[in-house]
Amino acid sequence: MGAMCEICENRKDLELYIHIPFCIKKCNYCDFLSFPSSAEDREEYVRCLVKEIEKTGIVLNDILNNKDTYQVRSIFIGGGTPSLLSGNQIKNIMQVVQKYFLIKEEAEITMEANPGTLTKKNLSAYKDAGINRLSMGLQSADNSCLYLLGRIHTWEEFLKNYELARKAGFENINIDLMSGLPGQTMSIYKKTLEKVMALRPEHISAYSLILEEGTPFYESEEIHKKIPNEEADREMYQFTKEILAENGYDRYEISNYALKGKECIHNLGYWSGVPYIGFGLGASSYFEGTRFSNERNLEHYKKEPYVPFMMREDYTVLSQKDKIEEFMFLGLRKRAGISKKEFRECFHKNIMDVYGEVISKYEKIDLLEWIKNGEMLRLTDAGIDVSDYIFCDFML
Ligand code: SF4
Repeated sequence: MGAMCEICENRKDLELYIHIPFCIKKCNYCDFLSFPSSAEDREEYVRCLVKEIEKTGIVLNDILNNKDTYQVRSIFIGGGTPSLLSGNQIKNIMQVVQKYFLIKEEAEITMEANPGTLTKKNLSAYKDAGINRLSMGLQSADNSCLYLLGRIHTWEEFLKNYELARKAGFENINIDLMSGLPGQTMSIYKKTLEKVMALRPEHISAYSLILEEGTPFYESEEIHKKIPNEEADREMYQFTKEILAENGYDRYEISNYALKGKECIHNLGYWSGVPYIGFGLGASSYFEGTRFSNERNLEHYKKEPYVPFMMREDYTVLSQKDKIEEFMFLGLRKRAGISKKEFRECFHKNIMDVYGEVISKYEKIDLLEWIKNGEMLRLTDAGIDVSDYIFCDFML
């Protein structure tokens, strides 16, 4: 075997995503695959999920002898609101995962949790089940913003849940924040960041609100009028960068910040081409150079929670061109950038032979830069601000 690049080497690594599509109620801006549920719905769903994981594990074991080939480096239980599941339900899911997949000892195991759904009891059961990282959706510390967003919690409720999580021994917590919210002024946003900084979470994801088609926000003219203008949005974005840097958070990806050593392994894997398998309704996978995703209709999923990859409607084998493009636009999201050497080792081509013209064009106007003695290529600060525009140019 020749020299290893990050992607080839990481083929030994595997990440798992488990989707829990239930929420207490739908937020006004949300277009994720999530909906309200009864206790029976959740119980039945967990049964299907366990069946799907079991069947996938058996098939992978037979075909790929995966216990030797792949090692799970991260598991992400996302949603929806996974913290609507009881401690026992999360335990059942984790047990079946552990039975069929080889999990690294130091694996990062994240669960998304919505404020208002955490208790001392479920937190301690999640911890026992092996969850070692929580991702909490706060979005804003301002109660009127939270109300408008249709969130189920107030700032005070979030705070109680955050403290419970710390007391339960969670030492790795992410907080999700949003800027550009309807009616949000710079001073409201500043207060949110100050309050969050005082809590010292290990990780912060900070995104601008996007009005997604089909959501109540998208449909409402009132809301459109209240959205801060581009200048205000940019100001919030600049302020996020500054205050988080001042407080010791490293911006390791366009919208993600972490204290030293607390970068999200799961997300870094996604941006570095590490294969992942998704379980549950609508979950997508990237495995053995192919992409596919699960059924999005709950009734269909419940009838047939496991469908072989090759029979999925959107089963796509990535071409070399697809892989090169993904390497570029996912890799460039990382502050560390992409490696020239890795590119050569993965694709047996010199990056400048493929992208010389585009790279030079953006280098000249200071939107891309070579660092580490010309080995790593990354977006400059100004480049990050127009990253979507730059990424389009890397389509072959
Ligand atoms: S809690 Fe999250 S997933 Fe659920 S409706 Fe709100 S934004 Fe969507």
